[in-house]
Amino acid sequence: MLRHWQGLGYYSRARNMHHTAQQVAGEYNGQFPSSYAELLKLRGVGQYTAAAIASFAYDEKVAVLDGNVFRVLARVFGVTQDIAAPASRKIFQQLADTLIPADQPAEFNQAIMEFGAIQCTPAKPDCLFCPLQTECYAFQHGMVQELPVKSKAKAARTRYFHYLVLRHNDTVYMRKRGPKDIWEGLYDFALQETGSAELSVASVVNAVEAVGGRLATDRAEEPTTAMRHILSHQKVEARFHPIWLSEPLDVKAAGAAGLVAYSATDIERLPKPVIITNFISNLSF
Ligand code: SF4
Repeated sequence: MLRHWQGLGYYSRARNMHHTAQQVAGEYNGQFPSSYAELLKLRGVGQYTAAAIASFAYDEKVAVLDGNVFRVLARVFGVTQDIAAPASRKIFQQLADTLIPADQPAEFNQAIMEFGAIQCTPAKPDCLFCPLQTECYAFQHGMVQELPVKSKAKAARTRYFHYLVLRHNDTVYMRKRGPKDIWEGLYDFALQETGSAELSVASVVNAVEAVGGRLATDRAEEPTTAMRHILSHQKVEARFHPIWLSEPLDVKAAGAAGLVAYSATDIERLPKPVIITNFISNLSF
């Protein structure tokens, strides 16, 4: 499944959608849940998505909160809580829930989101021609540029991935990435993650020996390839170190590291992060 999603990013969404499809088919007998409370039980469906589906598709009276809605509510009602703080959500949700009408919840949700997107925009809201001008707290108090209050997101952290591209004859060793990190379930190479863009020769040799490998002495040294991949919360600085082995890896040591030798055809079929696919596209077999 991940092979077909490869290159699109948001891999956890693909896994969640797959899990949810199985859940709906099995647990719900193929009937998609139709209430906010039930929708929230689906993996990958959070408050925003559940509220949007419940109100738009099933006319349930539940207010949607997105960036536009936070901004409109903060300005019109003068709410000064930080919209980036999780604790503020409850305050905005309660406020939106008092406003949403029972007979037209979908229209209300659509209207307030559109109002934020078209009229009450982040940088240059059209206050001069706004129908809410006389009752808008921010406009009346000269606080349009101060609201909503939003603390700055943390700067993306940089990670240094040193990939050991272990090769023997026409095979390359790869491994499946584990959970609780980026690219779960996708395939990459033996990895040394460090705090710097440099990796000493001694560290490379030690890492190869740790997975039961012996360096080939009859091959010329190949240059390291540098690539960068920017994700939403982190920047990956990858260095690919091509390493030819004199013999296959020791089976036990390779197995402990999750490394398996793959041919070019096998590698083509494996789901891989974009950065790995790009590197492999320049690899000659
Ligand atoms: S008056 Fe300005 S800040 Fe207030 S709701 Fe209208 S566009 Fe937004």
